[in-house]
Amino acid sequence: MSEFTKTLCPYCGVGCGLEVSPPAQPNKATNRDSKGNPIWRVRGDKAHPSSQGMVCVKGATIAESLDKNRLHYPMIRDSLDQEFRQVSWDEAFDLITQRIQTVRFTQGPEALCMYGSGQFQTEDYYTAQKLFKGCLGTNNFDANSRLCMSSAVAGYIQSFGSDGPPCCYEDLELTDCAFLIGTNTAECHPIVFNRLEKYHRKNRKVKMIVVDPRRTPTAEAADLHLAIRPGTDIDLLNGIAHLLMRWGYIDTLFIDDCTSNFPAYAEVIRHYSPEVVARQCDISIEDLETAARYWGESQRVLSLWSMGVNQSSEGTAKVRTIINLHLMTAQIGKPGAGPFSLTGQPNAMGGRETGGLAHLLPGYRVVKNPQHRAEVEDFWGLKRGQISPNPGLTAWDMITGLETGDVGLLWIAATNPAVSMPDLERTKKALLRSPFTIYQDAYYPTETAAYAHVLLPAAQWGEKTGVMTNSERMVTLCQAFRQPPREAKADWEIFAEVGRRLGFTKEFAFANSAEVYAEFVQLTGDRPCDMTGINHEQLQYQGPIQWPHKEGSKRDTKRLYTDLRFHTSDGRARFGAYYSKGLAEPPDPNYPFVLTNGRLYGHWHTQTRTGRIEKIRSMHPEPFIEIHPRDAATLGIIDKQLVEVRSRRGKANFPAKVTKAIAPGTVFVPMHWGALWAKDAEANALTHPESCPDSLQPELKACAVQLIPVFAEVPIKNYQLQSSQW
Ligand code: SF4
Repeated sequence: MSEFTKTLCPYCGVGCGLEVSPPAQPNKATNRDSKGNPIWRVRGDKAHPSSQGMVCVKGATIAESLDKNRLHYPMIRDSLDQEFRQVSWDEAFDLITQRIQTVRFTQGPEALCMYGSGQFQTEDYYTAQKLFKGCLGTNNFDANSRLCMSSAVAGYIQSFGSDGPPCCYEDLELTDCAFLIGTNTAECHPIVFNRLEKYHRKNRKVKMIVVDPRRTPTAEAADLHLAIRPGTDIDLLNGIAHLLMRWGYIDTLFIDDCTSNFPAYAEVIRHYSPEVVARQCDISIEDLETAARYWGESQRVLSLWSMGVNQSSEGTAKVRTIINLHLMTAQIGKPGAGPFSLTGQPNAMGGRETGGLAHLLPGYRVVKNPQHRAEVEDFWGLKRGQISPNPGLTAWDMITGLETGDVGLLWIAATNPAVSMPDLERTKKALLRSPFTIYQDAYYPTETAAYAHVLLPAAQWGEKTGVMTNSERMVTLCQAFRQPPREAKADWEIFAEVGRRLGFTKEFAFANSAEVYAEFVQLTGDRPCDMTGINHEQLQYQGPIQWPHKEGSKRDTKRLYTDLRFHTSDGRARFGAYYSKGLAEPPDPNYPFVLTNGRLYGHWHTQTRTGRIEKIRSMHPEPFIEIHPRDAATLGIIDKQLVEVRSRRGKANFPAKVTKAIAPGTVFVPMHWGALWAKDAEANALTHPESCPDSLQPELKACAVQLIPVFAEVPIKNYQLQSSQW
């Protein structure tokens, strides 16, 4: 038997396969860290179809975070100004169930909320849905995926009748033209980018177009970089469509046979002449025409996007406008082509499958559909009407619910909203008002732990066996390779135990995660994400499987919609007709710059893991703000000088990085630094919560700011986080 255990990288949605083994000689001093913990060996899994043995720096160093600053025991306190005290699991469970019952019977189930995470394994997600949406009767489960890709979900549902990215990674190496918009793939999805870039370099006829206000490492590799003004994505996309139509690059047969609503769309794009679009987007007509020509002349066009599109007050409209281009040119359902959203988190896709957003139910069902509710109620053995017909509170609604007192209990798991939510000062004030917050995480301290009444220690990726699905619908079994430290438990076990203690013993009579998964996949039968042919054992012995994969299937489904039939009632994909609305908070004379934010190659999210890895800390020693030299000169800002950035909601300080990589009028900061890791360098102190009306995803990517050079010496260096006492 191999000494290596197969698992998955728990960082981004690329979903790279890993193989992990204990140190060859565990007792040798060099094979142990400073605390005597064995240093696990990690390498890319060459047999994993998504990553083929490749890993980026995050995956390569992941084992170093296993034993750093772990939360080992349940802890409680009566109020936020007290110290935590260690308690037994029994005591913690008693307190939690008692509080849940009190809130249920005094305020009603709608006052209970859970805010979960794309870090969950599918079994964690499923158990939480069953507890909240089924047994407790509230749809108030939302996940941090709301902030990441809910616009992609809404866009797919509206255009195709169902969620589900239709492409696969093999398409990266089969396309004639890769159109990347709102994604810094090179830094945020490095292995997807490696595959694309290698292919692009070898095949000079293949075109790569990158749309981004920044000249990112992704844009550096492109044949054409369109540095559009923030918020003008729809102008650009409609402008490309206008030219494709004018030049006769549209596929009328496909439009007639396989789509609906084209006339309304054609009426909209008529208004997006090259002159209008070039002016709006602040690009040249020549570049716009080049983009349209690349698209029109290619047999196979693949679009990739991520949070630069999704995190917008018109996120769903942007997604649908990308899809429109594919529909008008029949660039879907064939190798090398299609609209392909990249998920940020390792199992955001599993969250979508299990109904892990406030408006969803398991098996790609929606809360508002009475038949979907009835199907889930029957399956869970609930009374009719037990599942609420109302979508639950979204992530931001939970914050406003704390402000109004409508939220009586907030359970946060595997995420760090005290850094990642918009309008952070308001978020923190709301968290301070929470009557009872349970915080379940693998690590301590985190910024959010400061707002908790109860801390629950969670096992993390290598300490529990479960399933994750990556951006290309590839389902991988992540096998445990070590025991959880001290008293940490798997998230699904914690949810199931609370369920049992609330009286739902038969609903949560799972002996292990394989049983949880086996129950969940039954709910996907005959749904677009049919996974009835997948189970833990098969994944362990046969390796990863791509869904849909019905019971009895012999092979994976690489691409969706190859028969050109969609999940809408008439089987046709729908064009969405949208005029551009622009930013929710455009710049003005008082706040003249657009602040955008994003991620760096080495760091992940709010640094809960990567901030504890020396190699990554030294790659990215401190936060910064990118400013164009022209703007810097106007404001008298020089390189490395501290800049105070103010928005209508808050302020933060960053050392200046004067660079032509950012367009004039726009500034960029990384989003990774919370209060634990630097002083006053929180990107989200500045952002606003205005969101897309369809996906309810906030516009984290852009807000209006002013810049003030700071002349005093103010240190902003990374904090050196001290070892936890736990
Ligand atoms: S690309 Fe993503 S999944 Fe792959 S190793 Fe890097 S962080 Fe992990």
